[in-house]
Amino acid sequence: MHAEILSVGTELLLGEITDTNAQYISARLKDIGVDVFRRVTVGDNPARLEAAFREAIGRADIIIATGGLGPTEDDLTAQCLAASLGRKLVFNEAAWALIEERLRKRGRAGSEADKKQAYIIEGGLFFPNREGTAPGQAVLFDGKLAAILPGPPREMRPMFDTQVLPLICKTYEGLQPILSVNLKLVGIPEAKVNEVLKDLMESANPSCAPYVGVGEVRIRIAAKGSSTREAQLMLSKVEEEVRRRLGGYIYGQDEETLEEAVAVLLRKRGMTLAVAESVTGGLVCHRLTGVPGISRHLIAGMVAYSPKIKVSCLGVPSEAALRDQAVNEEVARSMAEGIRRLAGADIGLATTGFAGPEGGTEREPVGTVYVGLSDKRGYLVDRQVYPGSRSSVKEFGAQRALYILWKHLKEWEK
Ligand code: AMP
Ligand code: MG
Repeated sequence: MHAEILSVGTELLLGEITDTNAQYISARLKDIGVDVFRRVTVGDNPARLEAAFREAIGRADIIIATGGLGPTEDDLTAQCLAASLGRKLVFNEAAWALIEERLRKRGRAGSEADKKQAYIIEGGLFFPNREGTAPGQAVLFDGKLAAILPGPPREMRPMFDTQVLPLICKTYEGLQPILSVNLKLVGIPEAKVNEVLKDLMESANPSCAPYVGVGEVRIRIAAKGSSTREAQLMLSKVEEEVRRRLGGYIYGQDEETLEEAVAVLLRKRGMTLAVAESVTGGLVCHRLTGVPGISRHLIAGMVAYSPKIKVSCLGVPSEAALRDQAVNEEVARSMAEGIRRLAGADIGLATTGFAGPEGGTEREPVGTVYVGLSDKRGYLVDRQVYPGSRSSVKEFGAQRALYILWKHLKEWEK
């Protein structure tokens, strides 16, 4: 049994985006014991796409294509797969009802173009799209399975995991369902995670492996069983053990973000927040404002970039603003206090530092990031020095600020 992955989209061929879908699908298929023999990338060209489907069907048992399922003219994947199989596309009322409902929630009425997405290959089935509009589709024929999925990774991934993988396992005997969870940790280095989980990491099934991210570590736990139930039991056992050992560092799992975890705690504590950013240039606020409902907690955000503004708007003492070009502990502290007072918030959060590549002082080199936090009980300041590019320092700094805030909120009552 082997598979071929087809990535559809001219933007992939132009080098405008990276094909993360094929990588994701490869890894998941490997997990259940399906070999991927070939990956093909095709532009949005009907003749070449149809030919690519014909060739893939000639070679492989399982064909998974992503991209080109949208409502626009250049989205041709369903038509081309149908044509390569000599089948028609049929309007599907149930698929259309789901698409319309999804559009209605976004305040839009369905158009003729949207209707295109409700045409399903004759004899095939469709997968509802919980993250977007275009449903996925699959066709079973001559012992083979072809599936087409939406291009955006956040739509494709859950659809692949929850609908395509189970279908593959059901269709082909001997394949073992695999379940996985990614636990996300902050405030602990990867080496320490390795040390604490050493024994669990030695097992091949269930497997347990840490990955480093920007200012965080992910632990992927996966279990393969002869049934979904068995896999679930195996997974839960290891997950419980990991949570028992490292629970204090876990802020969430899978798609959950640190800013969402912060928002949950702000809600729980009924607290408000104001942010003053220098080195992170608004990145902390950008991340926080991505969370629905954050307006009940986030009162204000300010990018206070020049030392002068730090003094005049936030009340940073002039001597502190002059010292090391306003990158020091006192500035971080007084920025946090200043924005808290200005906004009348429960918590003030601030960042200041040197993103580089030039600048820095003897005491405070490029990559230095201070995070200040202030509340009615007092303040705390954290200092880190990060390697890497300007954007990397900004990303690490914003992550650190959110971590400091998360930790503070978590420990509030202790
Ligand atoms: P499409 O479904 O072809 O309209 O694709 C919509 C968007 O999904 C593209 O603009 C990309 O941002 C993303 N996308 C499509 N194919 C891939 C892929 N193979 N890997 C990662 N992202 C993709
Ligand atoms: Mg496309």
